[in-house]
Amino acid sequence: MVTHPPANPRDISMWVIDIRHWLDETLTGPGLPQLKFKVKKLGEIITYATSAEVGFSVGTQPVCWRRTNRKPCGGGLEIELFPGTDHIHWQCPICGNEGMVTGWGGLIWDMSDSESGLFH
Ligand SMILES: [Zn+2]
Repeated sequence: MVTHPPANPRDISMWVIDIRHWLDETLTGPGLPQLKFKVKKLGEIITYATSAEVGFSVGTQPVCWRRTNRKPCGGGLEIELFPGTDHIHWQCPICGNEGMVTGWGGLIWDMSDSESGLFH
């Protein structure tokens, strides 16, 4: 089944992950050991989306981390930063893994110009 990001991200606000809730007090690493992998993947997604936004590429497209039949999916994630918001949506075209992350402004993964600030 093919799904598409909704026109209005507020419509699916229940899917939105605020990455700050997963970070320790320094906001540079996971708040709990079991969040380490998730924070790493979200960081990749944020870096990819924000660097594309300011017009340069960090190279590798993040890949899907979901495991099916004990094998990593490995699909190239489709990543979209909703204009005018800090909602980054990701979706795997292979297994349908998707979600939305917010709260990344000014964090170490934010490649946008924090001086002028895309979202202030
Ligand atoms: Zn996948």
